[in-house]
Amino acid sequence: MRASGTHGGADVRAASGQAEVIENPSPAVVMAQPHRRYNALLDEWLLVSAERTSRPWLGRQETPPVVDLPTYDPSCYLCPGNVRANGKWNPKYESTFVFTNDFAALRPDAPDTAVEDGLLRAKSERGTCEVICFSPRHDLSLSRMSPAQARTVIDLWANETASLGQRYEWVQVFENRGSAMGASNPHPHGQIWAGDALPREAVKEDATQRRHFDETGRRLLIDYAEQEVGGPRDLGSDDDWLIVVPFWAAWPFETLIVPRRPVSRLPDLDDRARNSLTERLLGLLRGYDGVFEAPFPYSMGWHQAPFDGIERPYWQLHAHFYPPLLRATVRKFMVGYELLSEPQRDITAEDAAERLRSAINAASPRAAQPGI
Ligand SMILES: [Zn+2]
Ligand SMILES: [Zn+2]
Repeated sequence: MRASGTHGGADVRAASGQAEVIENPSPAVVMAQPHRRYNALLDEWLLVSAERTSRPWLGRQETPPVVDLPTYDPSCYLCPGNVRANGKWNPKYESTFVFTNDFAALRPDAPDTAVEDGLLRAKSERGTCEVICFSPRHDLSLSRMSPAQARTVIDLWANETASLGQRYEWVQVFENRGSAMGASNPHPHGQIWAGDALPREAVKEDATQRRHFDETGRRLLIDYAEQEVGGPRDLGSDDDWLIVVPFWAAWPFETLIVPRRPVSRLPDLDDRARNSLTERLLGLLRGYDGVFEAPFPYSMGWHQAPFDGIERPYWQLHAHFYPPLLRATVRKFMVGYELLSEPQRDITAEDAAERLRSAINAASPRAAQPGI
């Protein structure tokens, strides 16, 4: 990383109490101060204020989640053999189970309509919303699964992506874990929403990745991964994958998972890459649960190349984890300055990486050797 001063002459303290100007400061000097970091994937900046966590906290306290869950809950609408709110019965599934959300935000039969009235524009959106149960066991979070069980979830993500990609342009695989992220049911499950339009985040990432590829002939996220491997934000890498607290992370313990070879979508992952992902993912999730010794809430999801038939050699598959907790019972809110100006964080990405790395190591001693 390059840092640059704005004034000739080193260590010049200007008159009239103005800010000190440092010529060619080291990155450590820049990052010990309030500073802004560039998010190369979204073409956005964020504010990092490393000392703010020492301030007294008067905000919302999260109640630690209930940990002691039964393996089967007769009132759970996702458990095998139970009835859902619309009267449909779940099969007595033994591995994974997929169904169309009974209260879907998108429908495949939406009529094709549009409004064009000056600045007021709207378009109908066709799509579908699936619920994907990761396990018949009500209590078995992804973080506590065996590698074989977790691999079935990765295969499910890939297979459903391939199937929905035949009908829809954008396939969004995601999981909300924990009531802090609005997950209404602790039964391990995720969702897949698919639709005809590229949503906001996809449009931004499409533009940055295309621009980098046009300029360099290489994929932005592969170049980024190579810059991060073995560095202070690396949470564990192998030949296939890097897990990193991104340099531009906005959420306290945000992470990014990226393949180190060109891969555009989940179905493109071969057997070896899926096994390696299983190991990395379980290491990360167990580390997350270890940070505050409690089930760690998050929103996570995969971004993969659109299925619109357009050649996109620049698109690299990746997953984002956005966990909200700053401390064990204190959550970060994106409010005020974050909503009105730009995201802001209170602990540096490097500090978060150090805490996560030691939690990953404690949970699985072989899992988190940076650069190995
Ligand atoms: Zn259940
Ligand atoms: Zn993304």
